[in-house]
Amino acid sequence: MSGLLRIRWAIAPAIAPRPLINCNRCGGIRSYRCSEKFRVNANGKRIDAWLIYRCTGCDNSWNFTILERCNRRDIEPKLLAALESNDPALARRHAFDATALRSRIGRIEEFPDVAVRKELLGGGPDCATALWVELRLDAATSLRLDRLLAGELGISRSRLQAWDDRRLLVVEPDGARALRRPARDGMAIRIDLGGEADREAVVSAACG
Ligand SMILES: [Zn+2]
Repeated sequence: MSGLLRIRWAIAPAIAPRPLINCNRCGGIRSYRCSEKFRVNANGKRIDAWLIYRCTGCDNSWNFTILERCNRRDIEPKLLAALESNDPALARRHAFDATALRSRIGRIEEFPDVAVRKELLGGGPDCATALWVELRLDAATSLRLDRLLAGELGISRSRLQAWDDRRLLVVEPDGARALRRPARDGMAIRIDLGGEADREAVVSAACG
């Protein structure tokens, strides 16, 4: 379809969630920051692995269990090598897994900050009447989709909501209420800008 501008936003969450832990050294609840380092312990055939967190007040450590008494034979050699070499991508994947962290420790602090890199996939910005934005996330974020779109497109969240109500904005694959949920890898947002007077400004913001 002519007039459709396709863009990919590569989104990198900036700060990993921090567990809130009763620090026995500080003597109170403190947030613990991910060190991005693993500790691997091999006891015979049994392997334990943890991601290490450090108290933001006193540097005390806390271990987030990644593998618990796993048989060496059941672990992919590539995974073990990644753990032993503190592979940054693996550390990032675990560090941003807020669900796993919350289920382990109860209370966590989350940060919605992200860095967005925009790449044009197809179509001409000059004659665009509709946008197709694909989201790629390298880790999970708590940032809501409407906050992401409003910030990156330079428009208000109420305007996004109005577009959503009039079906000028469609989110795939989540559909209804996706705007109020966290942005996720693989989402695509289609926005019909045909009737918008400030179309050029929105398109220009979308392209970066
Ligand atoms: Zn402490």
